Amino acid sequence: MTRSVAGPEIERLIQLLAKLPGLGPRSARRAALHLINKKDELLVPLAKAMDLAGERIVICSTCGNVDTSDPCLICTDPRRDGTTIVVVEEVADLWALERATAINARYHVLGGVLSPLDGIGPDDIGIAGLVRRVAEGGISEVIIAVNATVEGQTTAHYITDQIGGGDVRISRLAHGVPVGGELDYLDEGTLAAAIRSRTPF
Ligand SMILES: [Zn+2]
Repeated sequence: MTRSVAGPEIERLIQLLAKLPGLGPRSARRAALHLINKKDELLVPLAKAMDLAGERIVICSTCGNVDTSDPCLICTDPRRDGTTIVVVEEVADLWALERATAINARYHVLGGVLSPLDGIGPDDIGIAGLVRRVAEGGISEVIIAVNATVEGQTTAHYITDQIGGGDVRISRLAHGVPVGGELDYLDEGTLAAAIRSRTPF
């Protein structure tokens, strides 16, 4: 058993910090000490911000995004193109696409992907909500921006089966050479996909 170096309040802080992604017990202790040393500038405001966020966070009933209002800011933003829906697996993917400022559309967060081996079927992720949104009309394109994994692609095919056949254009992200990438360093699967999805100059 390890010996406690501080009172239970501080030990609890370290234990909770150690549960954060990327932090182990050692870096959690360092983070806790940093917070304690910056009590007024960091520890107290952070605790207040977390308390407030914990109280107000809701899942958007339209798109599955996290926000403090339902519908979320993205769903209610009139400057966004409401005719295009970008389908993503997780909120982290939505944030990543927003950081890239590549598209000014609406989203649909599935909250996972189909994975029969793990017992995750269509009813376990937000596919029904997407089908409903498309059926309500006013959507001209659905961009399936799921991960380039086997489960992601299975999910993309399933979604295409569910919403295809009408006037809605269904597209998916290109697979291939990353920006700044060198061909010699790419795996064969990525190179083959890049050749298959080549674009005219
Ligand atoms: Zn929303």
